Amino acid sequence: MKYFSTRNPEHVVTFREAVLSGLAPDGGLYMPESLPRLSAEVLERMNALSMQEVSTEITKVFASEDIDDAGIERIIESAINFPAPVHFLAPDIASLELFHGPSMAFKDFGARFMAQTMSWFTRNDNDPLHILVATSGDTGGAVALGFYKVPGVEVSILYPKGRVSELQEKQLTTHGHNIHAYEVEGSFDDCQRMVKEAFQDKDIRSRLRLTSANSINISRLIPQTFYYFNAVNQIDRVSDGNRHRPLVFSIPSGNFGNLCAGVMAKKLGARIDTFLAATNVNDTVPRYLASGEYSPMESIATISNAMDVGTPSNFERLLKIFSGDHQSFCEWIIGYRYSDEETKYGMAECHEKYHYISDPHGAIGYLACRDHLASRSDNPVGVFLETAHPIKFPDSVENAVKVSIPTPPQVGTLLEREKKAYQIPAKLDALKQHLLV
Ligand SMILES: *Cc1c(COP(=O)(O)O)cnc(C)c1O
Repeated sequence: MKYFSTRNPEHVVTFREAVLSGLAPDGGLYMPESLPRLSAEVLERMNALSMQEVSTEITKVFASEDIDDAGIERIIESAINFPAPVHFLAPDIASLELFHGPSMAFKDFGARFMAQTMSWFTRNDNDPLHILVATSGDTGGAVALGFYKVPGVEVSILYPKGRVSELQEKQLTTHGHNIHAYEVEGSFDDCQRMVKEAFQDKDIRSRLRLTSANSINISRLIPQTFYYFNAVNQIDRVSDGNRHRPLVFSIPSGNFGNLCAGVMAKKLGARIDTFLAATNVNDTVPRYLASGEYSPMESIATISNAMDVGTPSNFERLLKIFSGDHQSFCEWIIGYRYSDEETKYGMAECHEKYHYISDPHGAIGYLACRDHLASRSDNPVGVFLETAHPIKFPDSVENAVKVSIPTPPQVGTLLEREKKAYQIPAKLDALKQHLLV
C-alpha cells in the first residue's frame, strides 16, 4: 500500500515515509491510496480471530510492502497487548471499553502501534528521531508511556496549562528520560499550531529529525481500525440474532481520528451501519453535517477536555474518503452535540439506569447513542466508545454519579510522583529555545 497527501494526490510515498514524516511537505495528511473491501471469505474468517490476530491481518493490508510478516507480528505483540471488551448495559446498548491499556485511554492503541512501528523502521539508524506532539490530555499520556525508554527516540509533549486533569498531567510530566513535557500558556489549538509551525521552521528542521505523534500520523489511525472489527466479532458472539441487526457506533469526537478509523474499517468491510459523530459544544462537524458548510471555531473549554477542538485535524481525511461530497458524508455519519450540563446528566443517567460509570467523553457517546436509538425502528444495537477510564476525570464523574470510582491498577503511585515540565508562552520561539539547546 502506498500513501498520498490529502492536498496533492500526485505526492505518493511508502508506508515507511508516511510514518516517519507524519505530515506531508505540503501540509496535507497521508491517506492510504485505497481502502479495498476485504473479500467475504476473509471477513468471515476474521470473525473467528482474536484481537491480536485481527490486528495482524489488518496491518498486513496497510504495511506488507514495507514490513515483513514476522516484523508485523512482533509489532502487534508488543503494541496490542490488552483487550477492548464490549460491555453490554442492556440487549440494545453496549460500551466498547478502550481504556484497558497503560494510559487508560483509547490513544494507547495508536501511540503503542506508532512507537513500535517507528522503532522497527529506525532500528539501524544513528540519528535520534524527535517526536513533537500537542495534547489536549490523553494523547500525551499514551505517547509518553508508549515511547518511554524506546531507544533512539526523544519525545517533546506540549499541553495547555490548566486544561488537563491531574492524573493526565502526571502521566505527561513524571517520566523523565527521553520524555520532555511543555506546559503552554494557551489552548490546545495554540499547542497544535506551535507544533505545525515547528514543522515548518527551517532551523528546527535542519537540526532535528522531527516527526509527529498526533492523530495526523497515519500509524495512529491504522490500529484504531482493529477494535471496530474486534467489537463486531464480540457483538455477534453474544447472540446469533445480533448478526442480523444493524450496528450503530457512537464516537465521542475531537480531532476525529477515532471516527475516521471507524469509517476506514467500514470501507474495509467491518459490518457497521451508522456512525454518530458525538461532540461537546465544540461542534464544528455536527454543524457541517447539518448545513454542508465547514466553519471551524475557536475551541471552548469543557469537562470533556480531550474533545475541545475547534479545528478537527482529521476532517481533511474524512472529506477525502467521501470525495468532498456532503451527501455521502451524511449517509454514514450523523452529528450530535451536548453541553456540559447534558454531559453531567448523561453520566448520572447511565449510572442510575445501568449501574455503569462512564467518563465525560463516554457519556457524550452514550447520550448520542440513546438519542439515536430512540429515532430508529429497525432494532439496531448501539455501541458507544468508552474512550477513557472515568478515574482520569474524578471530579466531574463523582459529582455526577455520587459514588467513588474504583481505582484501576494503572494508577499505581502516579499521583505521588513529582511533576517536571517547562513552562512556556504560546510562542514558537519559546519552544525553539528549549528544543535547540
Ligand atoms: C482523544 C480523545 C477523544 C477524541 O478522539 P479523536 O480521535 O481526537 O476524535 C475522545 N475521548 C477521549 C478520552 C480522548 O482521549
